Amino acid sequence: MASKEPKHYRVVGLPGDYIGAEVYAAAVRALEVLTQGRDFRIDLDEQLIGGAAVDATGEPLPQATLDACEGADAALLGAVGGPDWDDRPAEQRPELGLLKIRAGLGLFCNLRPVVLHPALQRFSPLKPDRLVNVDVMIVRELTGGSYFGNKWRNANEAEDVCRYTRFEIERVTRAACDIAMKRDRRLTLIDKANVLETSRLWREVVRAVVDAEFPELDLEFLYVDAAAMHLLSRPGDFDVMLTENMFGDIISDEASMLCGSLGLLPSASLNERRFGLYEPIHGSAPDIAGKGIANPYAMLLSAAMMLRHSLGEDEAADALETAVHGCWEDGILSRDLDPDGPGTDEITDEVCKRLG
Ligand code: NAD
Repeated sequence: MASKEPKHYRVVGLPGDYIGAEVYAAAVRALEVLTQGRDFRIDLDEQLIGGAAVDATGEPLPQATLDACEGADAALLGAVGGPDWDDRPAEQRPELGLLKIRAGLGLFCNLRPVVLHPALQRFSPLKPDRLVNVDVMIVRELTGGSYFGNKWRNANEAEDVCRYTRFEIERVTRAACDIAMKRDRRLTLIDKANVLETSRLWREVVRAVVDAEFPELDLEFLYVDAAAMHLLSRPGDFDVMLTENMFGDIISDEASMLCGSLGLLPSASLNERRFGLYEPIHGSAPDIAGKGIANPYAMLLSAAMMLRHSLGEDEAADALETAVHGCWEDGILSRDLDPDGPGTDEITDEVCKRLG
């Protein structure tokens, strides 16, 4: 009998700048090992973004990169930016490439999982008794609110309009509910409904979506100022946190510190057709670039998120996460956590060994 043809997924590879390219290479290696013996393949289409794109084309997000993403299942990004481009005009700043790709592809739903593995508890700034079962998924609306509303200023006044439509709230709520249904079925909406009209609309819409489409979910509302405190006093109590753009920006950075290092945390930004841009939350770390010591774990976990959320390859995603956790349990920690730890390539070897 003829063997079944493997499925092919198209993934746009965006190495970016400085350690972006180093950690990206680690993810590519792990994905190669992972797909061997499984019934799918990843066809990588490498494109330019950030400073590398400015050098080659004069702009941080060439049209060819956007076009490649339009036809792809997902994009995997290292990180962009660095001192080489600090004196460039605004339209040639590498970080503009990120803003443009998010806007150009309608990436409205940002996911930031914050999971504190027991083997890494000692790196958290919080006391161990506060750190039991920390496994939070923060779902942040990424293309609306005050960051995108009308803006103006004169010498003495300025205004940033915070506007949300029912449609924008509904689509990100459904994404958050879908995720919560596969987890512990608890959703917390973070808002400021005692003060803001937009927050009152969020409460009404989220309540309606949950009641009508996800009645099994346990929904709670929390003011953002209280949420900021509870994230430090009882982080283990949260499952999925849903919030608007600016609150999500702040709350997700606060939550990331629970883990103690930027080099551990992945992220995803999704659009309506499940295309996602997957990237570590850290930047291009020019201070350590070229030394072979960048922590690749956040990038590897971003690749696992890609397998789960855009490619629907949950078993492979679990395998990659299990390999990373196995390394942590065996004390294989990068230099940002352990001054005598192995370098990027050695860590990637260890992860690949556990996948083989
Ligand atoms: P950064 O995240 O690059 O680095 C902050 C600190 O964390 C540095 O000391 C760095 O060495 C360390 N660090 C970060 N990632 C690490 C890793 N994987 N392994 C080990 N150590 C790691 O932030 P920054 O220094 O403020 O910014 C550097 C450049 O990155 C800037 O140009 C900035 O605009 C850009 N940036 C890009 C992104 C992105 O591409 N998404 C995000 C943030 C910053």
